[in-house]
Amino acid sequence: MKLQWLGTAGFKVETGDQLFLIDPYLSRNEKARPVQTMQPQELSGEGQIFITHGHFDHLYDVPAIMAQGKSTVYCSETAAETLVREGADSSRITAVGVDGYAADFGGYKAEAFFSRHVKFDIPLVARTLWRVGLSYGRLSAIGRSYPAGQVLSWRFTIDGYTMHHFGSGGSTPEELQRLAARPIDLLLVPLQGHTHICDIVLEYVRVLKPRLVIPHHQDDFYPPISTYVDIAPFVAQVKEKCPDTEVRVMDFNEVISL
Ligand SMILES: [Zn+2]
Repeated sequence: MKLQWLGTAGFKVETGDQLFLIDPYLSRNEKARPVQTMQPQELSGEGQIFITHGHFDHLYDVPAIMAQGKSTVYCSETAAETLVREGADSSRITAVGVDGYAADFGGYKAEAFFSRHVKFDIPLVARTLWRVGLSYGRLSAIGRSYPAGQVLSWRFTIDGYTMHHFGSGGSTPEELQRLAARPIDLLLVPLQGHTHICDIVLEYVRVLKPRLVIPHHQDDFYPPISTYVDIAPFVAQVKEKCPDTEVRVMDFNEVISL
């Protein structure tokens, strides 16, 4: 299986003759770093697209990707409404309304679990508002037009290999304990949205005990709303406190074979 990180929470997975995308978001403003040169039109519109929640940095490019082919989308009811508003074909969208939703695509199985969005903390909100300044009206309008809706985490089982993706880090301890009942080979965790996100996500690793963890979403994808997150403390803590878990930091658009 080949895994490509697309920046933010976006991944492309190729396995056998199957292809699927998770939270594919490529559009950036001119200040975003690293610079994303790949365009939504370059992503195949075949296969499936799985969405964790409706915020713009997870959903914005999905209509353009769908327009490239016949791909089908699996997302919350709220995200489905946003996609249809943006011109996506509703017959190719499955609104996931149940916790534990499962679908078999032949070469792999996908399951969705109800999760939660990380709660932006006051120091982070204050720093963000300071950066945003006079752009507040325009930028908050983007935020309001892409509501989060029910947050989902996605588990993929591919030839016995289990990969679990989170698009935001708001899981409760009970949720993590429940998901830990089945072993995870690869955990994809988002480091964005909270001053103490490195500690928050370390808890995911501690409870879920994956063989491999790959952090994502640390890039400065839409300044001044976003800022680069230093994930070095997370990497160091995994090495120190979870020695059975390997941690791998991917480069922008890098492809790895698993
Ligand atoms: Zn979000």
